[in-house]
Amino acid sequence: MTGEPVTGGCLCGAVRYEATGAPSEVSYCHCRMCQQHFGNPIGAYATFPDNQLRFTKGAPKRYRSSDFAQRGFCAECGTPLTFEYTRKPERISVSIGSLDHPERFPPSAHWGIEGQVPWLHIDDDLPRHRTEDDPEMAEYGPGAAGCG
Ligand SMILES: [Zn+2]
Ligand SMILES: [Zn+2]
Repeated sequence: MTGEPVTGGCLCGAVRYEATGAPSEVSYCHCRMCQQHFGNPIGAYATFPDNQLRFTKGAPKRYRSSDFAQRGFCAECGTPLTFEYTRKPERISVSIGSLDHPERFPPSAHWGIEGQVPWLHIDDDLPRHRTEDDPEMAEYGPGAAGCG
């Protein structure tokens, strides 16, 4: 598996991407903003630093979801695709479900647990963090209703 490009895209196929290396971080986020972005009780992301990821077909439609972040989706089919800090354009997170092989990239942490719905039970021993514990929040300041 090592060295194989990581590929993915949206449901309709209008947007495709490829990354040259494995993600640096894979995590769940339960925050309210991710719940709304995904339209689901939980979001999950694989993060690629250092301009490792490029779009090979189309591009997500992006919108500013907070003062410091933008999120992207397929303008044709609506698949949630990306999360980016606007001040860190070299880094991008993609939704795990958009990966061609999500089974290869298990999450290593939960974030945004202040937003976790009480009926969702995920039986793992992964670390669980509040959004406010994210070092990015210290950098960008409090006030967002979630991770940005
Ligand atoms: Zn699409
Ligand atoms: Zn979040």
